[in-house]
Amino acid sequence: MIVFDLQCARGHQFEGWFDDNRAFEDQKKRQLILCPVCNDSNVCKIPSAFAIGSSRTNTETDTNPELRPPDPAALARKISHFLENSFDNVGSDFAKEALKIHYGAEEPRNIRGVSTSEEEKMLKEEGIRFFKIPAAPPSSEKN
Ligand SMILES: [Zn+2]
Repeated sequence: MIVFDLQCARGHQFEGWFDDNRAFEDQKKRQLILCPVCNDSNVCKIPSAFAIGSSRTNTETDTNPELRPPDPAALARKISHFLENSFDNVGSDFAKEALKIHYGAEEPRNIRGVSTSEEEKMLKEEGIRFFKIPAAPPSSEKN
């Protein structure tokens, strides 16, 4: 799976999940990718994609269960578990804290939190690197 940040001609940003880049190009050509806000099919990629899972062929995954792509929900939980342990949760102060660290008012550290789209725009303009992940579904597993 690959996640692309997409933007329509009117500037709405949204995420699209595709098998690979070719699937994206194909769906775009057939105008199957629509902006969820205004239904515009004139979308383009914002260059901040990251890939999830393996790019191995189906033949391999069929013969070797170890190579099957991970369950996205389990993967999201794993990522969120990792973030919980490695990142300082600053909640809705994310943009504020990121700015403080950026300008040296605070020790550099890994932080996580939530931000509004205005704050994200501001952080981008300041040249601050951050990435977004979808919120993990609630875990139904015990240990
Ligand atoms: Zn739009």
